[in-house]
Amino acid sequence: MSDADFLIVGGGVAGLSAGAALARHGRVVVTEAEESLGHHSSGRSATFSHFGIGNRIVRSMTAHSRAFFLEAGEGVLCRRSPALFVATEEMRTALEMLARDMTTFSACIEPQSESEMLRRFPPLRTGTDAIVAGLLDPDGLRLDSDALLQSYARSIRTSGGEVLTGRRLRTVEPAGGGWRVESENGETWTAPILINAAGAWADEIAQAAGVRPIGLKPLRRTIIVVDPPAGAEVRGWPFVKTAVDDFYILPESGRLMASPVDEVESGPCDAQPEDYDVALAAWKVERYTTLSVARIAHRWAGLRTFTRDRTPAAGFDAQAPGFFWLAGQGGFGLQTAPAMAEAVESLVTGAAWPDALARAGIEAADLRPERLHEA
Ligand SMILES: Cc1cc2nc3c(=O)[nH]c(=O)nc-3n(C[C@H](O)[C@H](O)[C@H](O)COP(=O)(O)OP(=O)(O)OC[C@H]3O[C@@H](n4cnc5c(N)ncnc54)[C@H](O)[C@@H]3O)c2cc1C
Repeated sequence: MSDADFLIVGGGVAGLSAGAALARHGRVVVTEAEESLGHHSSGRSATFSHFGIGNRIVRSMTAHSRAFFLEAGEGVLCRRSPALFVATEEMRTALEMLARDMTTFSACIEPQSESEMLRRFPPLRTGTDAIVAGLLDPDGLRLDSDALLQSYARSIRTSGGEVLTGRRLRTVEPAGGGWRVESENGETWTAPILINAAGAWADEIAQAAGVRPIGLKPLRRTIIVVDPPAGAEVRGWPFVKTAVDDFYILPESGRLMASPVDEVESGPCDAQPEDYDVALAAWKVERYTTLSVARIAHRWAGLRTFTRDRTPAAGFDAQAPGFFWLAGQGGFGLQTAPAMAEAVESLVTGAAWPDALARAGIEAADLRPERLHEA
């Protein structure tokens, strides 16, 4: 007897978006270790969708996912918000390359003069030794991660599935041609298909199941929240990111959230901000803006978990029947979730590869976990 058709480990955006798609085909059970959904990476992100990140496949998935976010209506899962990519003199070549990469995906990338940049983001530090060039991508989206996670969870539940929190799995084993899992409190579930969407822990889940890990690398990233200039209404300000991965800043509930774009190697854990990275974030706020950081209102850190080629992995493990990998969403797991969920639906059910994904330039082979074992 199976408790589910699809058993999903992990209640982050990867597991829940896949679960919502698979709920159309059978009974889904999601087991999440923490008491709330999105406790780890999915609840700690900068919640922005933009084309300034990732390789061709990631950008194609970002582009393909936009319709899903926008179709729900402005303010439901997202709101439109431009992205401003900026460069110092030394970053000009990187900005040109970024413009070339993004032009394929965004309808109208516009170069920005110093005065245009200052109109959009008044505290930007411009001039010699500071920002001298910029590009505006009007196609940015500010995502609402909590609304997204809850809407996916609702779809699973209304289709007769379950999203269970406070269930940390400790045993994952093959059983009866499928998989049997047991949580730390002794509950068990069986299913013919197990979807490993455990984020930074996905390799550990594989090891527990006797499946070869795919070499995932969790990297810690830090965010601080600082006060804007007195009296400033920041809501309409853009997401501002340097053309090389050095710094970003964006509005957050009346304040400004900034990151030093750190990538510190970590094991899977409840990531906490380190003093050095918080100080670095504050220093970069002062380096790239005219703000002086008198107080840090909030700080947090989260893990961005990458495969070695920085393309996510989705597909059945070749040596472990019924064991499906859904991992390596790096720093783009929210903005690519709708496209990934479509890919997972086709790969898990064996349905034809969606034309829309093929037209977007995404093939099943791009996501194949086996590539990560090849030399
Ligand atoms: C600082 C920061 C900024 C980011 N900014 C953006 C951004 O602007 N845009 C964007 O698209 N992405 C962004 N990301 C990336 C995005 O957050 C991730 O790619 C995405 O959340 C990964 O989702 P996930 O479901 O794979 O992982 P998670 O959200 O970590 O979910 C995995 C879940 O598995 C659970 N789990 C693990 N082990 C077990 C077990 N044994 N039993 C049961 N459950 C288990 C964990 O508790 C966890 O909740 C950012 C990330 C960070 C950290």
